[in-house]
Amino acid sequence: MTGPGSEGLETVERLLGAGGCKVDAKFHQLLSSRTGDHSPSEQQRLKEEGTVWKLLDPALTGFFRCAAKGVAFASEDGIKRRYGQTLKENYPEAGPAFLRFATSFWTLKLLLDAQPPSWRETLAGYVLGQVELNVSGLFFPTRTPQAVQRVAERELAQRQTLANFPELYDVDEFMRGNPILLRDKSHESSRLRLTRQQNPREIQKYEHIRPAPVFGPRRCLAPFPGGPYTCTLAPGHSGPHVAHGGFLWPFKKVKVMAVWDDGP
Ligand SMILES: [Zn+2]
Repeated sequence: MTGPGSEGLETVERLLGAGGCKVDAKFHQLLSSRTGDHSPSEQQRLKEEGTVWKLLDPALTGFFRCAAKGVAFASEDGIKRRYGQTLKENYPEAGPAFLRFATSFWTLKLLLDAQPPSWRETLAGYVLGQVELNVSGLFFPTRTPQAVQRVAERELAQRQTLANFPELYDVDEFMRGNPILLRDKSHESSRLRLTRQQNPREIQKYEHIRPAPVFGPRRCLAPFPGGPYTCTLAPGHSGPHVAHGGFLWPFKKVKVMAVWDDGP
């Protein structure tokens, strides 16, 4: 079959097949249908039966099985054409298992982006979009300070996911060659994040830094990431942010509660 979205449909059926789901003619038709094609009562029924969620599970399973082998869902040359670099150029420190996985993910993304918007409204289009979203969210997240901060949590979730396929993934090997995790971890450890509670000794080095006077210049007020502190230095200060506590009176009892920088 050819036509708009046919590659997308074939890919979804391939993923479902790899995930152990039999696709017969009736199923094929359902996958090609758009939500709007169904009567409201039929839409309600599909929703109640959780059709989408029943499909997403085998489709994701199919993806992880394909990605262990590095199945390309579109031409690999397209990655360099689209993003300006091959995967090896972009992830020079990557291990072979990660490169296979990344090949499947990025070619799936290329294929998905090449499908017409109208196809995205079909059930198959929705399923493929969800596969992409789930995999990118867990394995290829956009780099934000929050994402970097939660790198340990992400590694655990990745390990748990891949552990579902023990015959296909050597989880430790995959993690050792996962450049995104490695980069985020090195950022995480090079960053300054001290609190009196967790780093009582290291924070002593900053004890000499005094807060900006309460009356007079306003304070920097930068928030400590994920904590209850705000910077008590003068606005536009140099060096890391510092939050003081217990400083109303007497002034001598001022304590440095947290020290941090803005990275990454
Ligand atoms: Zn500050």
